[in-house]
Amino acid sequence: MSYRIQERIVRDASSKLNVIIVGAGLGGMGAAIAIQLAGHDVTVLESASAIGEVGAGIQVLPNSARVLFAWGLKDALLPYATMPRMCNFVSWKGKHLSEMDYHAYAKGANGPFMDFHRANLHKCLLDRAAELGVNLVTNARIADVEIAGDAAETATVIFADGRRMTADLVVGADGIHSRLREVLVGHADPPELTGDLAYRLLLPTEAMMSDPTLRELVEDPQVNYWVGPDAHAVNYVLRGGQLTNMVLLVPDDMPAGASTAAGSVAEMRARYKGWDPRITKMLDLCDDSSDVTKWRLCIRPGLEPTWSHPSGAMTLLGDAVHATLPYLASGAGMALEDGGVLGLCLAKLTDKSAASKRQALAIYEECRRDRTERVVARGSYNQHMYHLHDGPEQEARDQRFLEFAEMDRQ
Ligand code: FAD
Repeated sequence: MSYRIQERIVRDASSKLNVIIVGAGLGGMGAAIAIQLAGHDVTVLESASAIGEVGAGIQVLPNSARVLFAWGLKDALLPYATMPRMCNFVSWKGKHLSEMDYHAYAKGANGPFMDFHRANLHKCLLDRAAELGVNLVTNARIADVEIAGDAAETATVIFADGRRMTADLVVGADGIHSRLREVLVGHADPPELTGDLAYRLLLPTEAMMSDPTLRELVEDPQVNYWVGPDAHAVNYVLRGGQLTNMVLLVPDDMPAGASTAAGSVAEMRARYKGWDPRITKMLDLCDDSSDVTKWRLCIRPGLEPTWSHPSGAMTLLGDAVHATLPYLASGAGMALEDGGVLGLCLAKLTDKSAASKRQALAIYEECRRDRTERVVARGSYNQHMYHLHDGPEQEARDQRFLEFAEMDRQ
């Protein structure tokens, strides 16, 4: 596989933008790297007081692997990456339905499938951004953005503590509950409920090694999807087999208005009773008293009529625009691709005029809108397909899974 690493553009003050990115998640840090490589000066403002070891596993598909490698991250990422050999679809009772050879697919896609602990992926992005000179400010919650009309040359972000900072371009990478999206549309704009929630678990694999049916999940890294009535489960190993990531996707029973809620090991076990014994055995490895969090899963199908302010002084990316169900493992990938495309569009700027910025943002949105909307729609389609009850529609789905695997083998 061959990759072209993007060279950093050197520019003078006449075309160098001062860019503020709000949010230091995967999308915000990716965009920071891409825009800094395009020769502009980037400051990232993050509400958290520190960037810590948060999250569980994350799958990176070939499309986003290519973006990361183009930013010069290949050598930094590979020591943390697990490259699964296969993706398996399994019925909730444990019957193998279909598989996809990831290594063969990766050759055609010119990029690998990689599984990470999210903290490792995030740290690699943070380190690369720092190396390029990106300025990261924590404890910086943005409450508002002021733009003086459609002809404005700049935008000013207003911090929750009253500080102000002005830039030629402000990029909202502030996630699914984006404040900057609200500023752009001019009213409250909550994401849509999907009816599902996620439990995310990290299990030490040591305990799995004494059971041959679990040991093979660790020794031969694969991504497994178990699909069943109203729920599914996903499992893959991380950090070279040190950890197993489990995500359990079940109907939402959380109180109205909450984004997260406390769950328990007992309720997870009860929910997956009767499923493939490998799932129940993995849940049995969890300590009964462990802290368990449930995440409500919401989506944003897109944003009309535009992702950007008419002045060209503000735009959005990632979950702030098009948060998807994680049923295609692509939300972060779409955010990274957004950043990559935005960087390439801003790389073409030859001046700092509002007209040039408007044009660059229009091309960015044109390149990204259709693809990201299709990914959100596909995630919702997968919710339906993965959660079918046993019956004729499930049988037809399983037949299609089989045909798909057959096509893949040819
Ligand atoms: P976020 O990661 O939410 O980052 C937003 C940042 O902005 C945060 O740091 C936040 O603190 C900060 N912020 C928010 N408001 C403000 C403010 N007002 N001022 C300053 N800072 C602010 N995607 C994949 O590609 N592969 C996967 O395998 C995968 N698995 C997933 C599994 C689950 C269970 C879930 C829920 C999601 C999964 N995703 C996956 C999706 C992925 O996590 C998201 O799409 C991605 O993290 C979005 O990145 P973002 O940068 O747009 O937003």
